[in-house]
Amino acid sequence: MKFENNLEFAKQLDAHDELNKYRNEFIFPQINNKDVIYFTGNSLGLQPKTAKKYVDEVMNDWANLAVEGHFYADKPWWDYHERFCQPLSEIVGAKPTEVGVMNTLTVNLHLLMVSFYNPTPNKFKIICEEKAFPSDQYMFQSQVKSRGFEPKDAIVEIKRREGEHNIRIEDILSKIEEIGDELALVLIGGVNYYTGQVFDMKTITEAGHKVGAYVGWDLAHAAGNIELELNKWGVDFAAWCSYKYMNSGPGNVSGYFVHEKHHEDKDLNRFAGWYGHNKERRFLMEPNFDAVHGANGWQVSNLPILSMAPYLASVDMFAEIGMKKIVKKRNLITSYLEFILHEIDAELEEAEFEILTPANQEERGCQLSVYLHGQGKELFHYLMKNGVVTDWREPNVIRLAPVPLYTSFEDMYNFGQILKKGILSK
Ligand SMILES: *Cc1c(COP(=O)(O)O)cnc(C)c1O
Repeated sequence: MKFENNLEFAKQLDAHDELNKYRNEFIFPQINNKDVIYFTGNSLGLQPKTAKKYVDEVMNDWANLAVEGHFYADKPWWDYHERFCQPLSEIVGAKPTEVGVMNTLTVNLHLLMVSFYNPTPNKFKIICEEKAFPSDQYMFQSQVKSRGFEPKDAIVEIKRREGEHNIRIEDILSKIEEIGDELALVLIGGVNYYTGQVFDMKTITEAGHKVGAYVGWDLAHAAGNIELELNKWGVDFAAWCSYKYMNSGPGNVSGYFVHEKHHEDKDLNRFAGWYGHNKERRFLMEPNFDAVHGANGWQVSNLPILSMAPYLASVDMFAEIGMKKIVKKRNLITSYLEFILHEIDAELEEAEFEILTPANQEERGCQLSVYLHGQGKELFHYLMKNGVVTDWREPNVIRLAPVPLYTSFEDMYNFGQILKKGILSK
Protein backbone atom coordinates (compact mmCIF):
# COMPACT_ATOMS: atom_id res chain seq x y z
CA MET A 1 0.00 0.00 0.00
CA LYS A 2 1.24 3.49 -0.83
CA PHE A 3 0.95 5.61 2.30
CA GLU A 4 0.29 9.34 2.48
CA ASN A 5 1.12 11.67 5.32
CA ASN A 6 -2.18 13.52 5.59
CA LEU A 7 -5.22 13.47 7.82
CA GLU A 8 -7.67 12.35 5.18
CA PHE A 9 -5.58 9.32 4.30
CA ALA A 10 -5.18 8.37 7.98
CA LYS A 11 -8.93 8.67 8.50
CA GLN A 12 -9.52 6.41 5.55
CA LEU A 13 -7.28 3.75 7.04
CA ASP A 14 -9.30 4.00 10.26
CA ALA A 15 -12.56 3.66 8.35
CA HIS A 16 -11.30 0.36 6.89
CA ASP A 17 -9.90 -0.93 10.18
CA GLU A 18 -12.03 -3.70 11.64
CA LEU A 19 -10.41 -3.30 15.06
CA ASN A 20 -11.11 0.44 15.24
CA LYS A 21 -14.27 -0.16 17.27
CA TYR A 22 -12.25 -1.74 20.10
CA ARG A 23 -10.74 1.67 20.88
CA ASN A 24 -14.02 2.38 22.61
CA GLU A 25 -13.50 -0.57 24.92
CA PHE A 26 -10.56 1.16 26.63
CA ILE A 27 -10.19 4.11 28.98
CA PHE A 28 -7.74 6.79 27.81
CA PRO A 29 -6.05 9.27 30.16
CA GLN A 30 -6.76 12.90 29.25
CA ILE A 31 -4.25 15.66 28.58
CA ASN A 32 -5.52 19.11 27.58
CA ASN A 33 -9.04 17.61 27.78
CA LYS A 34 -8.31 15.16 25.00
CA ASP A 35 -7.61 11.43 24.86
CA VAL A 36 -3.85 10.97 24.83
CA ILE A 37 -2.00 9.33 21.94
CA TYR A 38 -0.82 6.32 23.88
CA PHE A 39 2.44 4.67 22.79
CA THR A 40 3.32 2.89 26.03
CA GLY A 41 1.12 -0.18 25.90
CA ASN A 42 4.41 -2.11 25.85
CA SER A 43 4.97 -0.91 29.40
CA LEU A 44 1.45 -0.70 30.85
CA GLY A 45 -1.56 -1.43 28.66
CA LEU A 46 -4.67 0.76 28.92
CA GLN A 47 -7.56 -0.32 31.12
CA PRO A 48 -10.29 -2.26 29.29
CA LYS A 49 -13.74 -1.03 30.34
CA THR A 50 -14.72 -4.61 31.24
CA ALA A 51 -11.91 -4.88 33.81
CA LYS A 52 -13.90 -3.07 36.50
CA LYS A 53 -16.90 -5.32 35.94
CA TYR A 54 -14.82 -8.46 36.45
CA VAL A 55 -13.24 -7.01 39.61
CA ASP A 56 -16.62 -5.85 40.95
CA GLU A 57 -17.96 -9.37 40.53
CA VAL A 58 -15.27 -10.66 42.85
CA MET A 59 -15.78 -7.82 45.34
CA ASN A 60 -19.52 -8.53 45.42
CA ASP A 61 -19.03 -12.27 45.81
CA TRP A 62 -16.60 -11.64 48.62
CA ALA A 63 -19.10 -9.29 50.36
CA ASN A 64 -22.08 -11.57 49.89
CA LEU A 65 -20.55 -15.02 50.19
CA ALA A 66 -17.26 -14.55 52.05
CA VAL A 67 -15.55 -17.92 52.38
CA GLU A 68 -18.34 -19.65 50.49
CA GLY A 69 -17.15 -17.81 47.38
CA HIS A 70 -14.48 -20.45 46.93
CA PHE A 71 -17.15 -22.86 45.73
CA TYR A 72 -20.35 -20.85 45.21
CA ALA A 73 -19.25 -17.62 43.52
CA ASP A 74 -20.51 -17.20 39.95
CA LYS A 75 -16.95 -17.91 38.91
CA PRO A 76 -15.82 -20.04 41.87
CA TRP A 77 -12.42 -19.08 43.25
CA TRP A 78 -10.95 -22.51 43.90
CA ASP A 79 -10.49 -23.20 40.18
CA TYR A 80 -10.69 -19.64 38.82
CA HIS A 81 -7.29 -20.10 37.13
CA GLU A 82 -8.69 -22.82 34.90
CA ARG A 83 -10.82 -20.22 33.11
CA PHE A 84 -7.64 -18.90 31.51
CA CYS A 85 -6.42 -22.16 30.01
CA GLN A 86 -8.50 -22.22 26.81
CA PRO A 87 -8.35 -18.53 25.79
CA LEU A 88 -4.74 -18.06 26.85
CA SER A 89 -3.63 -21.19 25.01
CA GLU A 90 -4.97 -19.68 21.78
CA ILE A 91 -3.03 -16.46 22.34
CA VAL A 92 0.33 -18.19 22.82
CA GLY A 93 -0.14 -21.19 20.52
CA ALA A 94 -0.33 -23.88 23.18
CA LYS A 95 -2.65 -26.60 24.40
CA PRO A 96 -4.94 -25.61 27.27
CA THR A 97 -3.11 -28.01 29.61
CA GLU A 98 0.19 -26.26 28.87
CA VAL A 99 -0.63 -22.79 30.22
CA GLY A 100 -1.36 -21.32 33.61
CA VAL A 101 -1.55 -18.04 35.51
CA MET A 102 0.18 -17.34 38.82
CA ASN A 103 2.57 -15.00 40.67
CA THR A 104 4.48 -12.41 38.65
CA LEU A 105 6.89 -12.78 35.77
CA THR A 106 10.30 -12.87 37.42
CA VAL A 107 8.99 -15.15 40.16
CA ASN A 108 7.65 -17.56 37.56
CA LEU A 109 10.90 -17.58 35.61
CA HIS A 110 12.71 -18.39 38.87
CA LEU A 111 10.30 -21.24 39.56
CA LEU A 112 10.67 -22.55 36.02
CA MET A 113 14.45 -22.37 36.27
CA VAL A 114 14.19 -24.63 39.29
CA SER A 115 12.73 -27.19 36.91
CA PHE A 116 14.73 -26.46 33.77
CA TYR A 117 18.13 -25.35 34.97
CA ASN A 118 19.87 -28.34 36.48
CA PRO A 119 23.55 -27.58 36.16
CA THR A 120 26.24 -30.23 36.51
CA PRO A 121 30.01 -29.62 36.46
CA ASN A 122 30.07 -30.42 32.73
CA LYS A 123 26.80 -28.83 31.68
CA PHE A 124 26.07 -25.58 33.45
CA LYS A 125 26.06 -22.72 30.96
CA ILE A 126 23.20 -20.39 30.17
CA ILE A 127 22.87 -18.42 26.94
CA CYS A 128 21.01 -15.12 27.14
CA GLU A 129 21.12 -11.86 25.22
CA GLU A 130 23.46 -9.01 26.02
CA LYS A 131 21.67 -6.23 27.92
CA ALA A 132 18.80 -8.51 28.78
CA PHE A 133 16.06 -6.90 30.86
CA PRO A 134 17.74 -6.19 34.22
CA SER A 135 15.40 -8.42 36.21
CA ASP A 136 16.43 -11.33 33.99
CA GLN A 137 20.11 -10.56 34.52
CA TYR A 138 19.67 -10.51 38.31
CA MET A 139 17.74 -13.74 38.07
CA PHE A 140 20.48 -15.50 36.07
CA GLN A 141 23.18 -14.33 38.47
CA SER A 142 21.31 -15.38 41.59
CA GLN A 143 20.20 -18.73 40.13
CA VAL A 144 23.72 -19.59 39.03
CA LYS A 145 25.17 -18.66 42.42
CA SER A 146 22.51 -20.62 44.29
CA ARG A 147 23.61 -23.72 42.35
CA GLY A 148 27.23 -23.19 43.31
CA PHE A 149 28.54 -21.75 40.02
CA GLU A 150 30.12 -18.43 39.13
CA PRO A 151 28.08 -16.07 36.94
CA LYS A 152 31.17 -15.14 34.92
CA ASP A 153 31.73 -18.81 33.98
CA ALA A 154 28.13 -19.83 33.55
CA ILE A 155 26.38 -16.89 31.84
CA VAL A 156 27.13 -16.39 28.16
CA GLU A 157 25.72 -13.23 26.62
CA ILE A 158 25.14 -12.95 22.88
CA LYS A 159 26.45 -9.59 21.81
CA ARG A 160 25.52 -7.19 19.05
CA ARG A 161 28.22 -6.68 16.46
CA GLU A 162 30.12 -3.41 16.52
CA GLY A 163 27.94 -0.64 15.12
CA GLU A 164 24.79 -2.78 14.86
CA HIS A 165 21.61 -2.32 16.87
CA ASN A 166 20.22 -5.82 16.68
CA ILE A 167 21.51 -9.27 17.47
CA ARG A 168 22.11 -11.55 14.50
CA ILE A 169 20.48 -14.94 14.63
CA GLU A 170 23.56 -16.57 13.12
CA ASP A 171 25.55 -15.31 16.12
CA ILE A 172 23.10 -16.98 18.50
CA LEU A 173 23.18 -20.24 16.56
CA SER A 174 26.94 -20.37 16.29
CA LYS A 175 27.33 -19.66 20.02
CA ILE A 176 24.92 -22.51 20.83
CA GLU A 177 26.99 -24.84 18.66
CA GLU A 178 30.27 -23.59 20.09
CA ILE A 179 29.21 -24.20 23.69
CA GLY A 180 27.65 -27.50 22.73
CA ASP A 181 27.57 -30.08 25.51
CA GLU A 182 28.26 -27.51 28.20
CA LEU A 183 25.05 -25.67 27.44
CA ALA A 184 22.29 -26.31 30.01
CA LEU A 185 19.79 -23.61 29.13
CA VAL A 186 18.93 -20.98 26.53
CA LEU A 187 16.68 -18.27 27.95
CA ILE A 188 16.16 -15.12 25.89
CA GLY A 189 13.49 -12.42 25.60
CA GLY A 190 11.35 -13.42 22.60
CA VAL A 191 10.98 -9.73 21.74
CA ASN A 192 13.79 -7.50 22.95
CA TYR A 193 12.37 -4.84 25.26
CA TYR A 194 14.79 -2.14 24.14
CA THR A 195 14.90 -2.52 20.35
CA GLY A 196 11.67 -4.42 19.71
CA GLN A 197 13.59 -7.11 17.78
CA VAL A 198 11.71 -10.42 17.47
CA PHE A 199 13.84 -13.56 17.59
CA ASP A 200 13.24 -16.63 15.46
CA MET A 201 12.13 -18.76 18.40
CA LYS A 202 11.51 -21.88 16.36
CA THR A 203 15.03 -22.03 14.93
CA ILE A 204 16.76 -21.10 18.19
CA THR A 205 14.71 -23.66 20.13
CA GLU A 206 15.68 -26.40 17.69
CA ALA A 207 19.34 -25.43 17.88
CA GLY A 208 19.31 -25.52 21.69
CA HIS A 209 17.68 -28.94 21.72
CA LYS A 210 20.27 -30.25 19.27
CA VAL A 211 23.00 -29.79 21.87
CA GLY A 212 20.83 -31.18 24.67
CA ALA A 213 19.90 -27.88 26.34
CA TYR A 214 16.50 -26.76 27.54
CA VAL A 215 15.09 -23.68 25.83
CA GLY A 216 12.79 -21.17 27.53
CA TRP A 217 11.54 -17.72 26.55
CA ASP A 218 10.73 -14.58 28.46
CA LEU A 219 7.68 -13.39 26.55
CA ALA A 220 7.05 -10.10 28.40
CA HIS A 221 7.03 -8.15 25.12
CA ALA A 222 5.70 -10.98 22.99
CA ALA A 223 2.43 -12.14 24.58
CA GLY A 224 -0.44 -10.31 22.90
CA ASN A 225 1.97 -8.63 20.47
CA ILE A 226 3.19 -11.36 18.12
CA GLU A 227 1.93 -14.73 16.99
CA LEU A 228 3.40 -17.57 19.02
CA GLU A 229 3.40 -21.33 18.45
CA LEU A 230 4.94 -22.50 21.69
CA ASN A 231 3.65 -26.04 21.41
CA LYS A 232 4.66 -26.56 17.77
CA TRP A 233 8.06 -24.98 18.26
CA GLY A 234 8.74 -27.44 21.09
CA VAL A 235 9.64 -24.66 23.53
CA ASP A 236 10.27 -26.19 26.97
CA PHE A 237 8.88 -23.36 29.05
CA ALA A 238 7.97 -19.68 28.89
CA ALA A 239 6.47 -16.93 31.01
CA TRP A 240 5.12 -13.42 30.42
CA CYS A 241 3.72 -10.54 32.38
CA SER A 242 0.12 -9.59 31.68
CA TYR A 243 0.32 -5.85 32.24
CA LYS A 244 2.11 -4.87 29.01
CA TYR A 245 0.35 -5.82 25.77
CA MET A 246 -2.21 -7.85 27.68
CA ASN A 247 -3.75 -4.88 29.51
CA SER A 248 -4.35 -6.57 32.88
CA GLY A 249 -3.29 -3.74 35.22
CA PRO A 250 -0.15 -2.59 37.04
CA GLY A 251 2.30 -5.27 38.19
CA ASN A 252 -0.30 -7.90 37.59
CA VAL A 253 -0.18 -11.68 37.62
CA SER A 254 1.91 -13.59 35.06
CA GLY A 255 1.12 -16.30 32.53
CA TYR A 256 3.38 -19.29 31.98
CA PHE A 257 3.79 -22.28 29.70
CA VAL A 258 5.23 -25.75 30.27
CA HIS A 259 5.36 -28.01 27.20
CA GLU A 260 3.30 -31.18 27.45
CA LYS A 261 6.39 -33.35 26.89
CA HIS A 262 7.43 -32.46 30.45
CA HIS A 263 4.12 -33.01 32.20
CA GLU A 264 4.83 -36.61 33.15
CA ASP A 265 8.49 -36.11 33.99
CA LYS A 266 8.73 -36.96 37.66
CA ASP A 267 12.46 -36.22 37.74
CA LEU A 268 12.06 -32.50 37.15
CA ASN A 269 12.60 -30.46 40.27
CA ARG A 270 9.80 -28.21 41.25
CA PHE A 271 9.01 -25.98 44.19
CA ALA A 272 5.59 -27.25 45.13
CA GLY A 273 2.62 -25.78 46.95
CA TRP A 274 -0.93 -26.87 47.70
CA TYR A 275 -2.53 -25.31 44.58
CA GLY A 276 -0.40 -27.58 42.42
CA HIS A 277 -1.70 -30.61 44.30
CA ASN A 278 -4.32 -33.04 42.95
CA LYS A 279 -7.42 -30.87 42.61
CA GLU A 280 -9.95 -33.36 43.96
CA ARG A 281 -7.84 -34.05 47.04
CA ARG A 282 -6.46 -30.56 47.67
CA PHE A 283 -8.63 -29.89 50.70
CA LEU A 284 -7.97 -33.26 52.30
CA MET A 285 -4.70 -31.73 53.49
CA GLU A 286 -2.62 -34.81 52.73
CA PRO A 287 1.11 -34.83 53.55
CA ASN A 288 2.49 -35.98 50.16
CA PHE A 289 2.47 -33.86 47.02
CA ASP A 290 0.68 -35.29 44.00
CA ALA A 291 0.96 -32.81 41.11
CA VAL A 292 -2.03 -31.80 39.03
CA HIS A 293 -1.51 -32.95 35.46
CA GLY A 294 -0.17 -30.22 33.19
CA ALA A 295 1.11 -26.70 33.71
CA ASN A 296 -1.23 -26.18 36.66
CA GLY A 297 0.88 -28.71 38.55
CA TRP A 298 3.41 -25.85 38.88
CA GLN A 299 0.89 -23.72 40.81
CA VAL A 300 2.01 -22.87 44.32
CA SER A 301 -0.41 -20.74 46.29
CA ASN A 302 -4.05 -19.94 46.76
CA LEU A 303 -5.08 -17.79 43.80
CA PRO A 304 -4.92 -13.95 43.82
CA ILE A 305 -8.46 -13.66 42.47
CA LEU A 306 -8.58 -9.86 42.54
CA SER A 307 -5.52 -9.72 40.26
CA MET A 308 -6.74 -12.47 38.03
CA ALA A 309 -10.12 -10.83 37.42
CA PRO A 310 -8.93 -7.94 35.20
CA TYR A 311 -6.54 -10.30 33.39
CA LEU A 312 -9.47 -12.58 32.62
CA ALA A 313 -11.42 -9.60 31.27
CA SER A 314 -8.55 -8.88 28.91
CA VAL A 315 -7.91 -12.49 27.92
CA ASP A 316 -11.59 -12.88 27.04
CA MET A 317 -11.30 -9.84 24.75
CA PHE A 318 -8.18 -11.20 23.03
CA ALA A 319 -9.82 -14.57 22.52
CA GLU A 320 -12.87 -12.94 20.97
CA ILE A 321 -10.75 -11.04 18.45
CA GLY A 322 -7.99 -13.58 17.83
CA MET A 323 -4.28 -12.91 17.28
CA LYS A 324 -4.58 -13.06 13.47
CA LYS A 325 -6.55 -9.82 13.23
CA ILE A 326 -4.38 -8.16 15.82
CA VAL A 327 -1.22 -9.04 13.91
CA LYS A 328 -2.70 -7.88 10.62
CA LYS A 329 -3.51 -4.42 11.96
CA ARG A 330 -0.24 -4.33 13.88
CA ASN A 331 1.77 -4.72 10.69
CA LEU A 332 -0.16 -1.99 8.93
CA ILE A 333 -0.17 0.57 11.72
CA THR A 334 3.49 -0.02 12.60
CA SER A 335 4.46 0.43 8.95
CA TYR A 336 2.37 3.59 8.82
CA LEU A 337 4.13 4.98 11.90
CA GLU A 338 7.48 4.06 10.34
CA PHE A 339 6.46 5.89 7.15
CA ILE A 340 5.39 8.97 9.12
CA LEU A 341 8.71 9.02 10.98
CA HIS A 342 10.66 8.85 7.72
CA GLU A 343 8.49 11.58 6.18
CA ILE A 344 8.97 13.93 9.11
CA ASP A 345 12.69 13.27 9.17
CA ALA A 346 12.91 14.02 5.43
CA GLU A 347 11.05 17.31 5.89
CA LEU A 348 13.59 18.51 8.44
CA GLU A 349 16.97 19.95 7.53
CA GLU A 350 19.13 17.54 9.48
CA ALA A 351 18.61 13.85 10.12
CA GLU A 352 17.01 13.95 13.54
CA PHE A 353 16.45 10.34 14.34
CA GLU A 354 17.06 6.74 13.47
CA ILE A 355 14.84 3.69 13.96
CA LEU A 356 16.71 0.93 15.81
CA THR A 357 14.01 -1.71 15.33
CA PRO A 358 14.41 -4.08 12.35
CA ALA A 359 12.61 -2.88 9.21
CA ASN A 360 11.56 -6.43 8.37
CA GLN A 361 8.02 -7.14 9.65
CA GLU A 362 8.93 -10.70 10.60
CA GLU A 363 11.52 -9.36 13.00
CA ARG A 364 9.39 -6.91 14.92
CA GLY A 365 6.09 -6.54 16.72
CA CYS A 366 4.43 -3.17 17.12
CA GLN A 367 7.27 -1.37 18.91
CA LEU A 368 9.56 1.06 17.11
CA SER A 369 12.53 2.27 19.12
CA VAL A 370 13.77 5.62 17.90
CA TYR A 371 17.21 6.98 18.59
CA LEU A 372 17.16 10.76 18.77
CA HIS A 373 20.23 12.45 17.35
CA GLY A 374 19.19 16.06 17.57
CA GLN A 375 17.65 16.32 20.98
CA GLY A 376 16.86 14.21 23.91
CA LYS A 377 14.73 14.42 26.95
CA GLU A 378 13.26 17.88 26.15
CA LEU A 379 11.53 16.38 23.14
CA PHE A 380 10.13 13.55 25.25
CA HIS A 381 8.73 16.13 27.71
CA TYR A 382 7.37 18.24 24.86
CA LEU A 383 5.49 15.22 23.50
CA MET A 384 4.00 14.44 26.91
CA LYS A 385 2.84 18.03 27.41
CA ASN A 386 1.17 17.86 24.05
CA GLY A 387 -0.73 14.68 24.74
CA VAL A 388 1.65 12.02 23.39
CA VAL A 389 2.69 9.40 25.94
CA THR A 390 5.98 7.72 24.95
CA ASP A 391 8.71 6.27 27.08
CA TRP A 392 12.28 7.23 27.52
CA ARG A 393 15.24 4.89 27.71
CA GLU A 394 18.80 6.00 28.31
CA PRO A 395 20.86 7.19 26.56
CA ASN A 396 18.60 8.78 23.95
CA VAL A 397 15.82 6.48 22.88
CA ILE A 398 12.05 6.82 22.82
CA ARG A 399 10.00 3.69 22.38
CA LEU A 400 6.74 3.92 20.44
CA ALA A 401 4.27 1.06 20.54
CA PRO A 402 1.16 1.66 18.40
CA VAL A 403 -0.91 -1.04 20.06
CA PRO A 404 -3.41 -2.34 17.47
CA LEU A 405 -6.30 -2.77 19.92
CA TYR A 406 -6.57 0.90 20.81
CA THR A 407 -4.42 3.19 18.67
CA SER A 408 -5.66 4.69 15.41
CA PHE A 409 -4.06 5.70 12.15
CA GLU A 410 -5.22 9.24 12.88
CA ASP A 411 -3.14 9.06 16.08
CA MET A 412 -0.08 8.29 13.95
CA TYR A 413 -0.69 11.27 11.69
CA ASN A 414 -1.31 13.62 14.63
CA PHE A 415 1.78 12.32 16.38
CA GLY A 416 3.89 13.15 13.31
CA GLN A 417 2.64 16.74 13.33
CA ILE A 418 3.31 17.18 17.05
CA LEU A 419 6.76 15.62 16.70
CA LYS A 420 7.71 17.97 13.87
CA LYS A 421 6.55 21.02 15.82
CA GLY A 422 8.49 19.81 18.84
CA ILE A 423 11.71 19.45 16.87
CA LEU A 424 11.30 22.81 15.11
CA SER A 425 10.55 24.62 18.37
CA LYS A 426 13.83 23.69 20.02
C1 LIG B 1 8.76 -6.13 31.79
C2 LIG B 1 9.74 -7.21 31.82
C3 LIG B 1 9.97 -7.93 33.00
C4 LIG B 1 9.27 -7.55 34.28
O1 LIG B 1 9.23 -8.56 35.21
P1 LIG B 1 8.29 -8.46 36.51
O2 LIG B 1 8.67 -9.63 37.30
O3 LIG B 1 6.87 -8.45 36.03
O4 LIG B 1 8.59 -7.16 37.18
C5 LIG B 1 10.86 -8.99 32.96
N1 LIG B 1 11.52 -9.32 31.81
C6 LIG B 1 11.32 -8.62 30.66
C7 LIG B 1 12.04 -9.01 29.41
C8 LIG B 1 10.45 -7.54 30.65
O5 LIG B 1 10.27 -6.84 29.53
